[in-house]
Amino acid sequence: MSDHRPTVVGITGGIGSGKTAATDAFAALGITVVDADLVSRDVVRPGTPALTEIARHLGKEFLLADGNLDRRALRELIFRDPATKKWLEALLHPLIRQEIIMQLQHSKSPYTLLSSPLLLETDQQTLCNRVLVIDAPESLQLERTMARDNSSADTIKAIMASQFNRQQRLDKADDIIVNDGDLTALQSAVQTLHKTYLEISR
Ligand code: ATP
Repeated sequence: MSDHRPTVVGITGGIGSGKTAATDAFAALGITVVDADLVSRDVVRPGTPALTEIARHLGKEFLLADGNLDRRALRELIFRDPATKKWLEALLHPLIRQEIIMQLQHSKSPYTLLSSPLLLETDQQTLCNRVLVIDAPESLQLERTMARDNSSADTIKAIMASQFNRQQRLDKADDIIVNDGDLTALQSAVQTLHKTYLEISR
């Protein structure tokens, strides 16, 4: 049996940089996208051991009436409490990684994308053969996220400050899409990279 491992391209970028818009374009070309954000929600859905552990450790006030995790309350807590942030990451990161590996193994497309806002900040990058960074000026990140989420500029700036900055991300990139044009320009950049990725995964 061949031990050729399928190519995994990690895709990352700051909040509102256009990761989802880019992965939608890859998905339209038939490429499987494993989404670390979705996985991180999945491992704490009601009934999971991780959610039980969170409620036991932090209290039932972190559960909503319907049994789901109160993500907003938890996000606020870990912003002001680094020890809890560490505890939570130690609980969740291995579970998230395990589930990502399983989804990558099930992919049938010629190569697979692993989309993660924290690809470079966590060990998720070790699952990738190559890193694609979606880059956008911070003013555009802010403008697009405010239009999308109705969040305040302060909230978005706090999230940006908790992530790698533009230069730290670019330093780790094998490929870069500068997403400062319209969606057609983004899609055309995706099509060009798609050809490269098909080449290297043969
Ligand atoms: P997050 O990390 O918050 O999930 P993201 O990197 O996935 O963000 P997107 O949701 O893809 O970012 O993009 C943010 C917003 O900007 C969306 O509403 C998206 O449709 C819009 N957008 C992204 N790229 C472009 C573009 N080139 N032209 C116009 N709008 C864009």
